[in-house]
Formats: sequence, C-alpha cells, structure tokens
Amino acid sequence: MKAVILNETGGPEKLTLAEVPAPQPKANEVIVRLKYAALNHVDVWLRSGNPAYPLTPGQIPGCDGAGVVESVGADAEGVSPGDPVLILPALSCGTCARCKRGQDNQCDKFEIFGTKRPGTYAEFTAVPDTNVVPVPEHFSLDKAAAFPLAYLTVWHMLFGRAQLTKGENVYVVGGGSGVGAAAIQLAKWKGARVFASTTDADKAARIKLLGAEVVVASATQDAAAWVMEKTSGEGADVVVEHVGPATWEASVKALGKYGRLVTCGATTGPTVNLDLRGLFSRNASISGSRMGTGKEFQELSRVMFSGAIAPAVDTVFPLEKAADAHRRFDERKHAGKILLQIS
Ligand code: ZN
Repeated sequence: MKAVILNETGGPEKLTLAEVPAPQPKANEVIVRLKYAALNHVDVWLRSGNPAYPLTPGQIPGCDGAGVVESVGADAEGVSPGDPVLILPALSCGTCARCKRGQDNQCDKFEIFGTKRPGTYAEFTAVPDTNVVPVPEHFSLDKAAAFPLAYLTVWHMLFGRAQLTKGENVYVVGGGSGVGAAAIQLAKWKGARVFASTTDADKAARIKLLGAEVVVASATQDAAAWVMEKTSGEGADVVVEHVGPATWEASVKALGKYGRLVTCGATTGPTVNLDLRGLFSRNASISGSRMGTGKEFQELSRVMFSGAIAPAVDTVFPLEKAADAHRRFDERKHAGKILLQIS
C-alpha cells in the first residue's frame, strides 16, 4: 500500500512517500481504508524529534483519520466491512486502575495513535475495535477526520477540567490553531462569551467567523489588557492556553476572580514564569490537561454528529503532498485543521 513514512527526524522533507506492506488485522483489530487524515502537533513533534515521541525508522505518522472498514479480525466487534468510521486516537488498556475510574486519558499504557503504532498517513491502518467509531451516513468523512484529537482535547479542557458554564467569559489564546478554533466553537456552543487572540492579522476575520471577538496581539497591543477592557475589568473565567512562554504572562493576567487557566501544550517552550501573587489574590487556578476520556469522546461525537458544530477545516492536501501540508502547519498560517486526502 501507499504510505508516508519517517525514516529519520527533521524538517517536512523527511516525510517520504513509500510502498509498504498493508496491515493484516489481529483478532481484536479493524482494518480501515482511509479517506482522510488530519495533521496535529503530535505529528510534527514525531517528525522533528521531540524526545517525548521517539521515532522508530519507518514509522507512519498520523493520529486522526476517517474512512471505511475494509476487514475485521476474528474477535473484533461493533463494525462491519463497508461501514464509515473514524478513529479515536487515545489508546488505553481498559483494565488498569485509572481506566476503571474513567480516567483512561491517564492510563498506565496510554498512547496516542500513530506515535508507536502505524498511523493514518496511509491507505490502510489497523485499529483496536475499541477505537473505531461508526460515523453516521449524513456526516462527511473529512469532518470526521478533522475533529477527534483537537476537539476531544478541548472538550476535556473546557468541561472536564475548567467546568465551564453558560454565560462565562472564555479567553482562547491562539484562536487560529486547531485547538484554538475548537475551543472557540465548543465554548460558544456551551453559551459562553468568547475572546481570542492571534498574532496574524490575516487570520482575524476567519477567527471571528467562528464566533469569537478577536484581538491581534502585538508589542503594542496587550491581549490581557484587551480582555480586561472587554469584560469591564472582570477578566476571563476560563483561559485556554496551549502556547507557553510566548503568551503565558498575558494568559495569567487575563484571569478574573476564581478564573481557571487550563493548558494542554507548550508549543513555544516548556518553562514559564509565574507571579504567585496574581494567582492566590484572585483565587485563580491552573490545570494541566491531556486528551480526554472515552466517555467524553462519546459526548463530543453526539454533539458533532448532530451538526451543532462544523469542524473548522483550513486546507486539504493530497497524501503525496504531506510535506507541503507540514510546511503550512510549521508556518502557522492555518486557521482550523489541515487535512490529507488519501482516496
Ligand atoms: Zn489503562
């Protein structure tokens, strides 16, 4: 089969189109003939050599994907050949103490699809039956590939960690990214007032279309002061942070009383400064967040399949142009998800 593989870490040019053996299903696995894959930061970390994602030569990247069931293993349940499906990219064991408590995103054997197992930049991929989700006929497979990782991550941030409620103020850092766009849409869906920042003036109009009030942050435009002004000094009840050092100071300053900052990433570096006085004086809190749980994915899927939210898609590249897709991702020119069309 046709696949894009990584034999070594580096720039987008390391993504190589190759002919590799098609996977055969183990007893509990489903073979999916992929139609679309979606890019995520995880793919870039794997490609660029982030120590959290050590690369095995020949690895096929890609966590998100959707397609049609090609075949099923002897014991695989829930789907049949020909069914349209998407892949839940959070792999967990289902039997450890965390899994039994419903905290399967902290499973002892937690793994993101496409980081160790072969991923979705390929014509076929083998998926445990627990991670294959049927897609209703009316829901297109490009949208089905676009939402799982980013929207599940944001669902857990907003509702699992920050306990967002209707009518609250939400400040989304980097509103043009996959996580940023998902955060704007899910917060609006919950009935929040949403503010978002971007450093790219060209993206502002597209971010506004998602439902947020937008500021183009710069050396002369302080995003935190803008949020405070917009909320008449109340500040944000919830801050969605995934950028790190480049935005951290403004993210903390934008917090209101009893504000909750949730972070799921550190795309500009791992270390930040924190003035504790700004935290305890406002009863504010900071939480970490990783992916989401299987139960949350069921809730998210119901919302997405209902048509309440159309996942934001930026561009679609053919699989053969995966390197160009990564270049667009690296340049951070995208607003919403970048997809690869496979068949
Ligand atoms: Zn587990």
